[in-house]
Amino acid sequence: MTSERTCVGCRTRAPAELLLRVAIQGGSLRPGRNLPGRGAWLHPDLGCLNQAERRSAFGRALRHTGPIDTAGIRSHLEGLAPDRFAL
Ligand SMILES: [Zn+2]
Repeated sequence: MTSERTCVGCRTRAPAELLLRVAIQGGSLRPGRNLPGRGAWLHPDLGCLNQAERRSAFGRALRHTGPIDTAGIRSHLEGLAPDRFAL
């Protein structure tokens, strides 16, 4: 049985292997399946990142208060598929 997770951006469910797990490390959002602490799941898609940011979904999902630096995740996603995101 595949485990499904809900993307914090678009709120649709998807198999965990299609999603990126992110966690907070020192106030910054970082990708990583094995990072300690609470994780949130996100499609590897800037659209989903933008939606999650707009709704402050990361703070809620990760139980984090205060600003969250998403620059690292953003460049990670841009690096995954530069063509797709060259808008
Ligand atoms: Zn999504």
